[in-house]
Amino acid sequence: MELREIEAWLREEREEELARLWERADEIRRQSVGEEVHLRGLVEISNRCRRECHYCGLRAGNRQLSRYRMTAEEIMSCAAEAVAYGYGTVVMQAGEDEGITRDWMAGIIRQIRRETPLAVTLSLGERADEDLKAWREAGADRYLLRFETSNRALFEQIHPPLADRRSDRLAILRKLAALGYEIGSGVMIGIPGQTYGDLARDIALFQELDLDMIGVGPFIAHPGTPLGQDGAKFCAPSGEQVPATELMTYKTIALSRLLCPEANIPSTTALATLNLAQGRELGLSRGANIVMPNLTPVAYRADYEIYPAKACIRETAAECRSCLGSRILSIGRTVGKGQGGRRRTLPRRGTHS
Ligand code: SAM
Ligand code: SF4
Repeated sequence: MELREIEAWLREEREEELARLWERADEIRRQSVGEEVHLRGLVEISNRCRRECHYCGLRAGNRQLSRYRMTAEEIMSCAAEAVAYGYGTVVMQAGEDEGITRDWMAGIIRQIRRETPLAVTLSLGERADEDLKAWREAGADRYLLRFETSNRALFEQIHPPLADRRSDRLAILRKLAALGYEIGSGVMIGIPGQTYGDLARDIALFQELDLDMIGVGPFIAHPGTPLGQDGAKFCAPSGEQVPATELMTYKTIALSRLLCPEANIPSTTALATLNLAQGRELGLSRGANIVMPNLTPVAYRADYEIYPAKACIRETAAECRSCLGSRILSIGRTVGKGQGGRRRTLPRRGTHS
């Protein structure tokens, strides 16, 4: 699909045309990844972060947040719950926390791989090559790192570098792929300053990177962040600014499915935050095939406040499992069995002989 066509779909408002897009995305999803919806158990292992991203409530400068880092024992008991609920994967996510040391994390990954049948996904931010290598050797299977926007100037504006190094998430994704990880990336939708052209290029880049997993969700303003306080000042001119809406998120999910048929695409919590009643189901009916029930102990949930009023922060892991299971069945889909990794029919781009 040409960039022009992607952008035209993003701007499309006519219901009958959009119904065609949803149908095509749903059909390609059915043909490429089937009817199973895989459950990935999410454990938010630490909300400590050394960064100052202008969008995120976990940024180091947010002094309102009480900080935590889970113990290895707490993480292992979440992994045991993942097994008990029949999940195939545990996703360990955190701020960019230097207290998550290479060896400590490698030990946890090894223990999970040794004691459970779970696939291990990490989402721990921009880490040194040596960390990524050690964690892969310890048994981690997948890594999620959103590039947030393909507009380099906008990225630099909202994602300040650390003092000693330029932030290059695309280079890290290439490194991860070379290490043998399945790679996941994605963007926020409706970042102040993000244009329709930017979002169209983001989606084209998903295809170019040959992503195994694509996570997209609406930008939700957090009052304790620069974009939450002053976002309106940075908006693109009227008619160019992408709105941070549910509809724009569905369009992005559907287009991602058309361009990357084999990718695993979650229907995210941010979508459920905008529409608790139906957001997850609509995402699943418009191209998505993954959901991520939360396994984080309830005592820590509210402190993993990326954005306010996050959906499902009080539900226990058991409640999450049962709610998501019935939502999946209610739309005629089945709960996936096994690890649910990328089913690849072609070798990774750039590895053809
Ligand atoms: N620290 C790691 C990182 O940055 O990749 C992982 C955790 S970070 C909280 C996970 C994702 O949350 C980010 O990639 C970003 O897209 C998303 N996020 C952060 N702030 C957000 C906001 N205000 N609205 C929507 N999504 C947000
Ligand atoms: Fe830290 Fe990730 Fe939030 Fe940036 S997005 S402040 S790196 S947790």
